[in-house]
Amino acid sequence: MQTLSVELPERQYPIHIGPGLLERGELLTPHIAGRQVMIVTNETVAPRYLERLKAGLADYTVAEVILPDGEATKTLASVERIWDALLAHGFNRRCTLIALGGGVIGDMTGYAAACYQRGVAFIQVPTTLLAQVDSSVGGKTGVNHPRGKNMIGAFWQPKVVINDTATLATLPARELSAGLAEVIKYGLIRDEAFLGWLETNMSRLRALDDEALSHAVRRSCELKAEVVVADETEQGVRAHLNLGHTFGHAIEAAMGYGSWLHGEAVGAGMVMAAALSARLGWISETALQRTERIIAAAGLPRHAPAGVEAERLLELMRLDKKVLDDRLRLVLLQALGRACVTDEVADTQVRELLVGWPR
Ligand code: NAD
Ligand code: MG
Repeated sequence: MQTLSVELPERQYPIHIGPGLLERGELLTPHIAGRQVMIVTNETVAPRYLERLKAGLADYTVAEVILPDGEATKTLASVERIWDALLAHGFNRRCTLIALGGGVIGDMTGYAAACYQRGVAFIQVPTTLLAQVDSSVGGKTGVNHPRGKNMIGAFWQPKVVINDTATLATLPARELSAGLAEVIKYGLIRDEAFLGWLETNMSRLRALDDEALSHAVRRSCELKAEVVVADETEQGVRAHLNLGHTFGHAIEAAMGYGSWLHGEAVGAGMVMAAALSARLGWISETALQRTERIIAAAGLPRHAPAGVEAERLLELMRLDKKVLDDRLRLVLLQALGRACVTDEVADTQVRELLVGWPR
């Protein structure tokens, strides 16, 4: 098992990483104050992992809420179901909520914990690669509103995160690849050595080699935690986490949400960001080719599907929230392992890239 400590301004908390951690109650119990534990999970994850998690919590009063699967359940109505269950069981301010599932469950459970009796303890047990390397780090919690994704939320940090890499064995291959997009992103924006390690070890990761997964999850959590701690207010370096996301969100929207996974769109988006960086002469053609190769090796698409109009993508990119003072604000690469934010790129340059895409 590997353990990483996340240093917040007012306290620290551990992230444990390794295979078979789910049933190790001794990793959870030091972080549970009272006797009451509520596990929140969904209909896909519960049959596979709920009993194993509960086995390590025999000394506690454990209740559970099992929600339907899917992004469509990430609503205030689901959070109300969690609050209803907490009240029905008479759970007090010393209770602990445990999120067992992907980012949807983690975001909702964290938000439920942030608000219940003005804030109760919260533990993350993420079971998707995306949740292990991305959504469980940084303290953002919340739900969707009919008018927008993640529009209602709060910052609320967990007491501990348990990343059991063995749970990834049941994850659909597409979901694993989607998580790998965010892993590759960390290498591209901040750590060329890690990117090189990923190039060498991508097939081990896709074959679910525990040692490789543990390393990739650990380094990703470290890199995201570094960025988040350095920039809590989201004024500077945190924006680098959006590499490929402005292009990616446009692809997701153009395709209709849900047809491409977020990570798939971000994979293609990162290649586009690298291609634009190469056009500007910031990175070499070789660096662009390395980016394309690693994205393909992760099982991700390298470009938006044919038939998506360049003009439409540009229009959608301009709608993305990262447009500041009417100029597209893009995260690009100055080198592999070094990202930057720029609003110096003219629309015409982006249009030229999109029209000629894929090359
Ligand atoms: P998800 O939670 O929908 O999980 C993907 C699918 O995998 C679901 O069908 C789920 O039931 C299933 N699943 C989960 N674990 C499994 C397992 N071990 N075996 C088999 N199936 C399993 O999606 P996700 O990609 O984990 O997370 C996406 C969500 O995370 C979005 O709502 C997004 O907004 C949010 N997010 C939040 C942050 C943040 O900072 N809080 C960051 C990135 C994404
Ligand atoms: Mg993302």
